[in-house]
Amino acid sequence: MSVVKGWCPGALQPMESGDGWVVRVRPRGGRLSMAQAAGIAQAAEHHGNGLIDLTGRANLQLRGVTPATHAPLITDLRRLDLIDADIATETRRNIIVTPFADIETDRLATTLEAALAVSTLTLPAKFGFAVDTGPAPVLTQTPADIRIERAADGHLLLRADGMATGQPLTDMACALDLAAWFLSRGVTDGRGRMAALIARGTTPPASLSPAVAAPIPGPGPVPQGMLVALEFGQAGAATLTALAALGPIRLTPWRMLLIEGLHAAPDLPGLILDPADPRLRLRACTGAPGCPQAHAATRPLARSLAAQVPKGAVLHVSGCAKGCGWPHPATVTLTATSQGFDLIRGGRAHDIPQLRGLPAARLPEVL
Ligand code: SF4
Repeated sequence: MSVVKGWCPGALQPMESGDGWVVRVRPRGGRLSMAQAAGIAQAAEHHGNGLIDLTGRANLQLRGVTPATHAPLITDLRRLDLIDADIATETRRNIIVTPFADIETDRLATTLEAALAVSTLTLPAKFGFAVDTGPAPVLTQTPADIRIERAADGHLLLRADGMATGQPLTDMACALDLAAWFLSRGVTDGRGRMAALIARGTTPPASLSPAVAAPIPGPGPVPQGMLVALEFGQAGAATLTALAALGPIRLTPWRMLLIEGLHAAPDLPGLILDPADPRLRLRACTGAPGCPQAHAATRPLARSLAAQVPKGAVLHVSGCAKGCGWPHPATVTLTATSQGFDLIRGGRAHDIPQLRGLPAARLPEVL
């Protein structure tokens, strides 16, 4: 059994954490049937600690899995068609799909998945694809190295992350050719990303502008059903079981699930249904005790400060400088250290703080 520490888990390659192994599941096409969603909830309860994370790339993570429960968990997930043939295939199948997918988007995602399954490319662990061909792009803020979008005239476009323009997508081979181009430019370490290569001045041919991106919606009704937000992007098994009974689920990278065909949202533990709820302004990683690298508990602190976060602002509480909970700058970031909390305004968890070593009791007055 291969277990990774602090880096890109999968289902077949779980990651050690403070609360056991983290097993990441990549639902195909970003969708779960009702049976799959119910099955994941049941598996999380039987083989983990019953907590399920929704990640920033619209994957699910089952927490609290043990060396003894991992194999039966994989058996259950394989029955639900959620497991790849091997670790290499699982790692390559790093595709995020717009939750507002239409039939053509589904076809593109399926074709890309099939092409990657038989590809011999050895891509960096985090290298990923976005299929963002709904009515308007919505994944431009979500990490991805190769993006399939629509051009302003509606035609399909292939864009390297970091480029303002792309090239026409004639078939899926173009997307793999762009990945091969990336590898051919001498990206030698396993963490290489497309945007970093582009920033160094190496660019592929591109001339077509993508369509204008749409704003990210909040919880509430959308044409496909209902978006419901998860506090800190985490749901308990009971909540997922209840949601699974309401309809098929599309995953989003915004800590929200889209329940297809749903018109009235249920009030379930951990769900946020009001777009004005201040908890939507909070970001917090797992923190202590779930993460062994954490210097403090993060989510209870963030929750206690929610009422002080004004509309439009983001408060990020991070258990350490790694900043897993929010890789972007936040209005205020509180980074736990061995000496207390560092406060960073307009930056990330690892940026230079304006205030250092604050005790938790002082945080309400300095925010
Ligand atoms: S940011 Fe949070 S979850 Fe990530 S390593 Fe640090 S304490 Fe752990």
